[in-house]
Amino acid sequence: MRIVILGAGFGGLELASLLSEKLGDDAQVVLIDKSDGFVFGFSKLDVMFGRTTADHVLHRYADMILPGVSFVRSAIRSLDPAARRVVTDGETFEADILVVALGADLDPAATPGLAEGGHEFYTVAGAFALREVLEQFAGGRVVVGVTSTPFKCPPAPSEAAVLMHDFLQARGLADASHVSLVMPLGVPIPPSPKASQAVLAAFAERGISWHPERLVRALQPDLGAVVLSDGTEMPYDLFLGIPVHRAPAVVTESGMTVDGWIPVDPETLETRYPGVYAVGDVTSAGTPKAGVFAEGQAAVVAQQIISRVRGAATPAAYDGRGICYLELGHGMVAKVDVTFLSGQSPVGGLEGPSADLAADKTAFGSERIRRWFGKTWHATLPDPPSA
Ligand SMILES: Cc1cc2nc3c(=O)[nH]c(=O)nc-3n(C[C@H](O)[C@H](O)[C@H](O)COP(=O)(O)OP(=O)(O)OC[C@H]3O[C@@H](n4cnc5c(N)ncnc54)[C@H](O)[C@@H]3O)c2cc1C
Repeated sequence: MRIVILGAGFGGLELASLLSEKLGDDAQVVLIDKSDGFVFGFSKLDVMFGRTTADHVLHRYADMILPGVSFVRSAIRSLDPAARRVVTDGETFEADILVVALGADLDPAATPGLAEGGHEFYTVAGAFALREVLEQFAGGRVVVGVTSTPFKCPPAPSEAAVLMHDFLQARGLADASHVSLVMPLGVPIPPSPKASQAVLAAFAERGISWHPERLVRALQPDLGAVVLSDGTEMPYDLFLGIPVHRAPAVVTESGMTVDGWIPVDPETLETRYPGVYAVGDVTSAGTPKAGVFAEGQAAVVAQQIISRVRGAATPAAYDGRGICYLELGHGMVAKVDVTFLSGQSPVGGLEGPSADLAADKTAFGSERIRRWFGKTWHATLPDPPSA
């Protein structure tokens, strides 16, 4: 059986490593990605705030050893879900089972003024470039703002606001600065009231202004103003944006999307095309766009594929559960355990914050890099380059 996985991000790597472990040479697995390596979303914050280096957080596909999996570095140019055929810059692939794990593309150019007058920390390039910008920043009005929904890792803008404040404080710039956060959500973490309270308490402690239920529509760099969806303007010196998200063009052009994302069976992650699955940010599976959900969905697809190859019993349905680590500043991390099940209101609990959970978060990253890349890795450098 030939299984072709499109995208070696959180979902694609988890699926490829599970198939390698469980099926070995009993299946032919091809994993395709255009990038040279994988970067965790949270590593973007670590790099921009100077806790580690760009080189340290890039996990190169060239170093990956997964028995039974062939990695192909190439851009996917077109995909035909009915024929399960994929055309890349190099070869064309035909699959018995096709899995789309191509994530969400980011489009900073869709927000007027963002490229000219602001920065974004959601792309790898944008976050890495911010490290130097933040090092040079002399203090002032910082606005962290979301430009559209849906967006990846809903807690990340709140984390960025808190970490930005602490970064300024460590440099003696907090008194000359003010951090504001513009968010479309009514509370920071909707499924977990306790987590929302913890985030709002961290904002209050630091004097961070919280502007819920609004989006940033445009920047007016000449006027030094951010324009919000309710028509109001906010003055800024430094803008850290969350750009517009969309399914990669190759996915939209394939006809697989409905309202912008790929619909899937919420229990099996199969699309409306037989033998074609989709996991992670590219789907409208009903879960937030976050790595932990892409990973949980990949595990369900792995079970589906293994049961097809082995002729085993029908595997369990996707449980919609994910554990998310939440940075609350000064080295404290909380753990939010959330469940999103189709037709039910999402629920979530909170553990911490504590310094022990910061160690848990590091172990979470290390464990995945060991499984996916077979190497030892620690998310932050033992001796951060800029304290
Ligand atoms: C600042 C920040 C912090 C975050 N923190 C967390 C966190 O703490 N926990 C968490 O769970 N999630 C977090 N996330 C979200 C997480 O990074 C994503 O939700 C997750 O990576 C999605 O996994 P995925 O497999 O769907 O897609 P991705 O991991 O984005 O992978 C998609 C892959 O497809 C490839 N690709 C796309 N188009 C093509 C093409 N045409 N040809 C070839 N290859 C292609 C890309 O190169 C990429 O490698 C964070 C995100 C950000 C931005």
